[in-house]
Amino acid sequence: MSITLEELHGAHNYHPLPVVLTHGEGAWVTDVSGRRLLDLLAGYSALNFGHRHPRLVEAAKRQLDRLTLTSRAFHSDQLGEFCAELAALAGKEAVLPMNTGAEAVETGVKLARRWGYRIKGVPADTARVIVFDGNFHGRTTTIVSFSTDPVAREDYGPYTPGFDVVKYGDLDALRAAVTPETVAVLLEPVQGEAGVVVPPDGWLRGVRELCDEHGMLMVADEIQSGLARTGRTFACDHEDVVPDVYLLGKALGGGILPLSAVVADRAVMDVFTPGSHGSTFGGNPLAAAVGREVVAMLSTGEWQERATELGAHLDTALRGLGNRHIAEVRTRGPWAGVTLTADAPDARVICERMAAYGVLCKEAHGDTLRLAPPLVVTPEELTWAVDMLGKALG
Ligand code: PLP
Repeated sequence: MSITLEELHGAHNYHPLPVVLTHGEGAWVTDVSGRRLLDLLAGYSALNFGHRHPRLVEAAKRQLDRLTLTSRAFHSDQLGEFCAELAALAGKEAVLPMNTGAEAVETGVKLARRWGYRIKGVPADTARVIVFDGNFHGRTTTIVSFSTDPVAREDYGPYTPGFDVVKYGDLDALRAAVTPETVAVLLEPVQGEAGVVVPPDGWLRGVRELCDEHGMLMVADEIQSGLARTGRTFACDHEDVVPDVYLLGKALGGGILPLSAVVADRAVMDVFTPGSHGSTFGGNPLAAAVGREVVAMLSTGEWQERATELGAHLDTALRGLGNRHIAEVRTRGPWAGVTLTADAPDARVICERMAAYGVLCKEAHGDTLRLAPPLVVTPEELTWAVDMLGKALG
């Protein structure tokens, strides 16, 4: 029924697996027939803490009974605290809250351009931002303008100018693309939607050095890779790299509501002035209360440690499969891209088979499976899920 109604009355901009979910708890979801499935996608990392984590649900309920929305015309007793606590987690000074990831990216682009004109001294309307092939930063008109995925871009022109696309992971190509008008380098420290593509060792550090050398902002889109997904608070931490700007989202809202943020030092953030940017729902007290609990959970390092252990387990299990249909396995923490061989069944078919066995995951591009289990999953559950993958691959 739900599927038919969605077919008839919903826009056809997604192609979900034929499962209809009614409940979620921890790493597991239940469908309309009462069947339980292990969720190995975790809302593309929005559910890093699993479904309905009791601490997060409690924080939301507490705030629901007090105050949900003020608009930014007034202060709330949650926003300042949220900003201070998230800034401390990130080692930065200031936070600008938005709602979706795409809004955080848009905010990051506006921030970089304004910083370019007002601080770097780039001539008006000439600022350029370097991005990378295979990127995924969201769905707005500006963001798809610098996407290299024809499906995401086609027939949405005219496109926003001011972006240069460079080969991901290639430092020489990046160096060659820098111009005096380049104000920022916008990157994913691990490309999630591209199929969990991990750049070569040292690349992030090289980008940092180039940004310092040429006075460009390093803007790290950690919307999917951040907040413990890779075993560290930020994926940039794997190379001890500190970007100028973090873009955060997904897990920041605890899997309960949309909450994103741009995090930077004052010298950068202060190019925003009253009225120059904003959002009705950005930083609302309900989202801020949930975000504060997320930040508190991440502040102890336990989730990052757990993610590291789960990541090692997942990596070993996937490589141990030795399946003839697996061409490559890439992992960063409990986040894996599994690229299939040319003669393997379509990745979508594998996902359908796995759903039939009780495991939910999603194909990335055509021949790649992407696994991002919630961090509450147990090693035993992961072992079982990987066994099901082996069975589905045949
Ligand atoms: N940036 C990255 C790295 C993402 O993976 C995504 C979503 O998958 C986004 C931005 C966009 O986030 P949202 O869908 O919340 O707009």
